[in-house]
Amino acid sequence: MKASSSSSGPSEWVTPLLVRVHAALRGGSGLEDLASLASSAFDHVDGPVPIEELAGSLGVAQVLTVPFDGASGVLLRPDGRRGPLIIVPEAHAERRRRFSIAHEVAHLMLGHLGLARATSEEERQADRLGALLLLPPSRVRSAMADAPPDARRIERLGEAFQVSIDAAARAYAEFHRTPMVAIIARGGVVDRCYGGFGMPTVRLRIGDAVPAGSGASRPAGGRGRFRTCTLRDSSTWFKVPLRRPATFVEQVLRRRPDCSLVVLHEEGAPPLREARTGSGRVPRGQGVHLRAVGCQCPDEVVDRVVAP
Ligand SMILES: [Zn+2]
Ligand SMILES: [Zn+2]
Repeated sequence: MKASSSSSGPSEWVTPLLVRVHAALRGGSGLEDLASLASSAFDHVDGPVPIEELAGSLGVAQVLTVPFDGASGVLLRPDGRRGPLIIVPEAHAERRRRFSIAHEVAHLMLGHLGLARATSEEERQADRLGALLLLPPSRVRSAMADAPPDARRIERLGEAFQVSIDAAARAYAEFHRTPMVAIIARGGVVDRCYGGFGMPTVRLRIGDAVPAGSGASRPAGGRGRFRTCTLRDSSTWFKVPLRRPATFVEQVLRRRPDCSLVVLHEEGAPPLREARTGSGRVPRGQGVHLRAVGCQCPDEVVDRVVAP
């Protein structure tokens, strides 16, 4: 952890909220607690989290959307009285820019303002905290409303919170009480794979072709945009043999001709005893293998923290 410091003069830009966040950080608060502390002022908001306002409440002087290349976001260090600036590229879609802004806000909250380039662990934390800011766990859980896993709800979650399908799928798969896996297939290959606690291990890796037995490998059209069916052969997606008989449901939501969202869960599976937390604790003794699967990356963020 690097110390937060401004390059010169007193840090007049630091807000009381940022002071509280940094105190909580020093006190050992986890990312989920830091996120709810920072966003508590916006709890009444029904729609997407107003991420630029949230940035302002933490001392960010301005969020600028300008034409530039080479990074998804830049956090310009504070300079005495002037708070940090966040710069995001005009060319990126709005949902991606929102994620990049949240990621930079997370760096600020985590005190990653030192002179050295952020480490990959710091990047991972910023991704994690940024996602928690945009998708507050309490709101995500109530949006799921104890309904069984449903790929269409993931798409609606992305719409409601103005986040990418990747971020929505990750939050949904992590916070849902039913063990499930959410896979995003792009261009015929597995591009993202989220969740998996309490599920058998997915046998495919990121970049592998979508298996022929999956509905996602069939051409679009005819049967509509969404289909759900029981998986005839669980080895289509999972390592076999399982240690017990189980029937898995595969839902395929075709988002575009080259992009499908696949949700897998076990028919009649009991909910996990405890809700998983953002820190990724795995409840013990629940399922068959209890292993996380594949890639856990959210939206890839390439960013820079630079001096003014
Ligand atoms: Zn970063
Ligand atoms: Zn990845």
